Amino acid sequence: MAKISDNLRQIQKQIEDAKNRSNAQQDITIIAVTKQVTAERAIEAIESRIFHLGENRPEGLLAKKEEIKDRAKWHYIGSLQTRKVKQVINDIDYLHSLDRMSLAEEIEKRAERTVNCFVQANVSGEESKHGLAKEEVLSFIQSLSQFTKIRIVGLMTMAPNTDDEVIIRKVFSDLKKLQQEVVKLNLPYAPCTELSMGMSNDFEIAVEEGATFVRIGTALVG
Ligand SMILES: *Cc1c(COP(=O)(O)O)cnc(C)c1O
Repeated sequence: MAKISDNLRQIQKQIEDAKNRSNAQQDITIIAVTKQVTAERAIEAIESRIFHLGENRPEGLLAKKEEIKDRAKWHYIGSLQTRKVKQVINDIDYLHSLDRMSLAEEIEKRAERTVNCFVQANVSGEESKHGLAKEEVLSFIQSLSQFTKIRIVGLMTMAPNTDDEVIIRKVFSDLKKLQQEVVKLNLPYAPCTELSMGMSNDFEIAVEEGATFVRIGTALVG
């Protein structure tokens, strides 16, 4: 297995190059997705000065957090079953997969503090993907005003499984347009300044299209 610090240097260079290509100015936070690796490997990420870790199962997140505690910010990036909210909601710093009212209601009931949430959008419309349809995102966010524990920090999406860069780019640029529409709503609970998009195979395109959080597993810690 390659050293994480070497992978990180390579990824940071790719991010810088992508920013230069598109004249992008945004700050980008790298989330190391550690769902397929050991806690030891996650600790190596922290020692390489990556302070944001992503997990997609409650068990995986809690097991790693047991060892790493608050040396990292914790991102829950997978779809979250309503009945599992109570297991993790007070152990995470960001939820990337808010996609339905029943989930919002359960968060409101269980959270002991404000939870930073990304609304997940299924921009590509692929049936296998979680998330709200593009057309549903604005009204969904507007309907969250009743909740006191939910802060919408941004939007999240996953690109479709394709090698077609044109299609991937369109998904990311559509998410950015949607994010800007949410900003225009001026909702106090939904500043929506962030874009969580880009994984190992497509983070350079995501950065070119405005990503502020990239979620990288295989290329970084795999
Ligand atoms: C696994 C996963 C990632 C990371 O995927 P890689 O291709 O390994 O970089 C990012 N986001 C989500 C939601 C994931 O489930």
